[in-house]
Amino acid sequence: MISHPIDPKVLAAQFESRFGGWPQIYRAPGRVNLIGDHTDYNDGFVLPAAIGFYCWAAISRRSDNTFVIFSENVQETITAQLENLSRDAFAKWSRYPLGVIQQLANSGCRLDGANICISSEVPMGAGLSSSAAIEVATAYALLGLFDYEIEPTRVALLCQKAENEFVGARCGIMDQFVSSHGQARHALFLDCRSLEYRKIRIPDGMRLIICNTMVQRELGSSDSLYNARRAECEEGVRRLAEVLSDVRALRDVTLAELEKCRDRLSDVVYRRCRHVISENERVGQMASALESNNMGLVGKLMAASHRSLRDDYEVSCPELDLMVRLATQQEGVHGARMTGAGFGGCTVSMVDAEFAPQFQSRVAAAYLAETGRTPEIYNCEASEGAGRVSVESQASDKPA
Ligand code: ADP
Ligand code: MG
Repeated sequence: MISHPIDPKVLAAQFESRFGGWPQIYRAPGRVNLIGDHTDYNDGFVLPAAIGFYCWAAISRRSDNTFVIFSENVQETITAQLENLSRDAFAKWSRYPLGVIQQLANSGCRLDGANICISSEVPMGAGLSSSAAIEVATAYALLGLFDYEIEPTRVALLCQKAENEFVGARCGIMDQFVSSHGQARHALFLDCRSLEYRKIRIPDGMRLIICNTMVQRELGSSDSLYNARRAECEEGVRRLAEVLSDVRALRDVTLAELEKCRDRLSDVVYRRCRHVISENERVGQMASALESNNMGLVGKLMAASHRSLRDDYEVSCPELDLMVRLATQQEGVHGARMTGAGFGGCTVSMVDAEFAPQFQSRVAAAYLAETGRTPEIYNCEASEGAGRVSVESQASDKPA
């Protein structure tokens, strides 16, 4: 990981010595989802927050229709022209920014070429969505440089499309949405069907602590498990829609309706549906609990979400369960759960700021003692989304 925080003046100076000329600077954050996992592809609800780890993009114009992109993180430069953009010709990492360039061009933006230097604080592949951060940072940088104004939801949709089509990853809209729309001190209560959202204030003094189990399923196997879950949800919808009206997705079914139709479903499909439907309810309850500063209820909802993901959806693993157990044993903790797709990856805990350092060192030591693995622990707060950073003042131009 590159040092955190990145100093935009240092980035600008590095850009100048690499490319010549003083750049404009943009940044876009990674994210954590506080509750609502495996609900997005069921047209449901999620509650993510942007975290104070950003992907930075320094950029300047070229006029030869060429894009030269350097990543500090992978220490590689690629050169591309819009006319012959074939994904197979480019290293995997560069498909994220190149896919965005292609989508912007397809949507009618005239981009004459650019030098771009990417430098990210978001650890790659850790579940904090470094992929959305690099996409959204690239999009904001190009739009800003070429004087286009596109609203953040459209930017998010373009970036999602880039990841789906040019990278080939089947991701939902949450990551790009919160990276564009993130608000300091707030999570976003997002309806993944309508893309309507409400800002939810995180109580003052609360840290979002993300613990990386450092466990990942071997390549390919988590994809097939993920696709199996999606297929089980689709089967649930098919069967439920035979007897319930207006059911397009599990989002349209209540728990009472599910219970009534239980004997139409296999036990596995029933439990998958129960997770999704109950999780959707918990997202709404969590938003209200945070707004009324009812941290006792927040903790209960996070625990119920974890149990549901573990027992009904079966996407946890021993290391995630252990990390949650260790987290809940600490002083100053209000709640903890696995977050993201599962089968490894991260947990999120809500912790009083004064206890955060102690939480970090104790959880890390206990996890190491039990598993032999050193976890990475990120102490985050809900932060603002993508925007331009003025290098002179080092302050973001985007109002908080
Ligand atoms: P996550 O989004 O959880 O970090 P992904 O697998 O979706 O994990 O995306 C990680 C990939 O995104 C990396 O392997 C790399 O290809 C690309 N990426 C993200 N940030 C950067 C960066 N700063 N420089 C180059 N590639 C990056
Ligand atoms: Mg990603």
